Amino acid sequence: MRLLPLHLLMSCFVATGMASENEESSSAEGNPGKFVLRAARALESGESSSPPSFTDAERLMERKRMVRNQISARGVDDSKVLAAMRDVPRHLLVPESLQKHAYKDRPLPIGHGQTISQPYIVGYMTELLRIGPEDTILEIGTGSGYQAAILAQLAGQVISIEIIEALANRAAEDLQAMGYKNISVLHGDGYFGYEEQAPYDAIIVTAAAEHIPPPLIAQLKPGGRMILPVGSSGWTQNLILVKKNAKGKVTTNHLLPVRFVPLTRKER
Ligand code: SAH
Repeated sequence: MRLLPLHLLMSCFVATGMASENEESSSAEGNPGKFVLRAARALESGESSSPPSFTDAERLMERKRMVRNQISARGVDDSKVLAAMRDVPRHLLVPESLQKHAYKDRPLPIGHGQTISQPYIVGYMTELLRIGPEDTILEIGTGSGYQAAILAQLAGQVISIEIIEALANRAAEDLQAMGYKNISVLHGDGYFGYEEQAPYDAIIVTAAAEHIPPPLIAQLKPGGRMILPVGSSGWTQNLILVKKNAKGKVTTNHLLPVRFVPLTRKER
């Protein structure tokens, strides 16, 4: 049976595209997209945002091993991030034929030429965002929904944008079936962010842009952090941490070379 999203709302938005001092380029091409809210929604009053809990003993062993050998072993030590990675059933977000590989130290194909990131990179990027329980987080590049689920274990609210409609729909359905109530999946071009819910405490981009999208810098809260891969393709990409201080000043920090799928600009 196909699980349908709880809420299907239409919403249109216009990004401001405000520029910041430190942006690498200001060439914002194209137009802001039209977004369709695919799943989840703002919590209703009195409703708890506590993440779902999963009881799958066999897979839990695999996840514990994954966290120990791939994530803490490489220096990620935020206990809440490690707990989230032990909790989220990654295997439920990959194609069925690949579930046996879900906890391996590698990215996996998820269809439409896209991939679910290697677990370590998810842990590393998440830790650097220093997410608090009340935070609202924007993710660009929903893909399988795995990164969104990890964020949702730690934050108050997660907005995740995916440019490939079929992936947006599938992630929304999967995340809803898993019981997440604090994730909104939207279909559209994430280059423009999502003005309606801005500003964000943290932003994560999981596809590589050629420059830091100015609308995303504009939508980051003072005191906020954004992590994203920047570069054209292959090993020329860098993982960058962007910080906006309380006065709105933006600084960037190059962390490590990475390889992500490109941030595309045409909705499919
Ligand atoms: N975070 C994902 C990894 C997805 S790979 C996960 O946990 O599985 C990157 C994703 O970014 C792909 O699904 C790709 O379709 C999407 N993407 C690429 N360009 C985009 C854009 N401009 N806006 C939104 N999503 C985009």
